[in-house]
Amino acid sequence: EERYREVFEGSPMPMWASDVETLAILEVNQAAIAHYGYSREEFLGMTVPDLWDSEERAGYGSNIRERMRRDNVHVLRRHRTRGGRIIDVEVNARRLVVGGRAVWLTLVNDITDRKRAEAALRESEEQFRQLANNIPQAFWITNLGRRETTYLSPAAAGLTGRSMEDLYRDPRNLIRSVHKDDRRDVYEARKRAIQGGYDLTYRVVKPDGSIRWVHGRAFPGRDAAGKAYRIAGIAEDITDRKAAEERLLHLAHYDVLTSLPNRVLFYDRLGQTLAQAKRNQWIVGVLFIDIDRFKNVNDTLGHAVGDKLLQQVAERLKRSVRGGDAVGRLGGDEFAIMLSNLSSAQDASLVAQKIMASFNEPFKLEGADFYVTSSIGVTLYPDDSVEQEVLIKNADAAMYRAKELGRNTYQFYKAEMNARALEVLSLESSLRRALDRDEFILHFQPKAGIAEGGIVGVEALLRWRHPERALVSPPDFMPVPEDTGLIVPVGDWVLQAVCRQI
Ligand code: GH3
Ligand code: MG
Repeated sequence: EERYREVFEGSPMPMWASDVETLAILEVNQAAIAHYGYSREEFLGMTVPDLWDSEERAGYGSNIRERMRRDNVHVLRRHRTRGGRIIDVEVNARRLVVGGRAVWLTLVNDITDRKRAEAALRESEEQFRQLANNIPQAFWITNLGRRETTYLSPAAAGLTGRSMEDLYRDPRNLIRSVHKDDRRDVYEARKRAIQGGYDLTYRVVKPDGSIRWVHGRAFPGRDAAGKAYRIAGIAEDITDRKAAEERLLHLAHYDVLTSLPNRVLFYDRLGQTLAQAKRNQWIVGVLFIDIDRFKNVNDTLGHAVGDKLLQQVAERLKRSVRGGDAVGRLGGDEFAIMLSNLSSAQDASLVAQKIMASFNEPFKLEGADFYVTSSIGVTLYPDDSVEQEVLIKNADAAMYRAKELGRNTYQFYKAEMNARALEVLSLESSLRRALDRDEFILHFQPKAGIAEGGIVGVEALLRWRHPERALVSPPDFMPVPEDTGLIVPVGDWVLQAVCRQI
């Protein structure tokens, strides 16, 4: 009796004794008083069901009779403290005879905190699973000590084309999925992961043989001593994104019509070659090629046929150069060629001749043979200039000169050409002004009929009364309006002036 009392009173857990029939509380220990907030007197006036949470009470009562017949009862309950707090408790009751009276001796374990922690854990695990199951990236966690995969999200199956069972059963299946040329990188990365993680792009081969690009990242998890004991990683299939990026990159650097490098890429390659040329003392040739009267093709056969011609020209140009050279389409009907490492200027001339010869063959357009020619400007590094921009300008000027000389020819750049180009440019703008300011005048040259012996008509000749120069005669300015299209408004002006004077 004494020992029982000692255990009862000294127990850190709430205890009470109740009548087996009425469940009236007969005795209660200090821990129960402290835990539930009722005084000893209050307890002794209560029955056990008075402690039950009212909302759950109905459930508890139903099979109580049956339980009462047993010697031991172990149940989970919700109790209400005097202050109204609901607590989850584990109740152990044992039927005893104390002092000649049958009682339930009850021991209570408050598991509220444990249940709350369990619920929180469940909730956080559910949240994690919801994310991991629905995110297209695969997550994984590896235990370094046991060398096993402790978690692998379902997306890993889609990523590798293997079943989750396969992947869990043997972690080497993950490595087996990696393309064999990338395995070494992945191994190295995994070693690095222990130090500070990795960020790696590699290929995965699915069992059906298809290859996917994967971007993987991993981070070490460390224990309190700072030692890595697990690695968590994310792997993402970036094949589509990579393909889109490559398409964009291709679009940004290649001409869609001819698949030749565009202006951006051509300049880039030229820049690289010039840097090499500087180190190795190469001669580099830059050729500008413009198709002659290309507008005629568009105008007579249509734009689509013009496109086909441009494609065929691109093919012929590619065939006219060596492997280390570059062909680009700068825009419209203008192409450029870079000849790297020439042994002499003569070589550039040979390539220009070869290109012109390649135009001797007719182009097949719409089932018919079509002949076109081209004009080529040539400039040389380092003779003409060592600067990329200047070389390009020079080649353009030389090409322009080839046009002036009647087309279907090539010209090496000469220093005068830029001066001439500037002159042409200023002439063009002065000519536009000349129209606006009425600076043109007409001179009439009589035509005599020998049979009639008198004047039968006049020819109208255009002269330009330049504000700063003397009278300018047609050979000095006519090529410019002819090339720029200014000839049309000038022609209109002449017809109107003649008619007015008649
Ligand atoms: P020139 O001998 O002076 O070079 O005469 P051209 O008619 O060839 O004139 P120019 O080189 O100045 O004009 C090129 C024309 O090419 C202008 C444009 O109508 C046409 N063009 C530009 N880009 C394309 C294209 O992508 N496809 C087609 N079909 N035509 C184009
Ligand atoms: Mg042209």
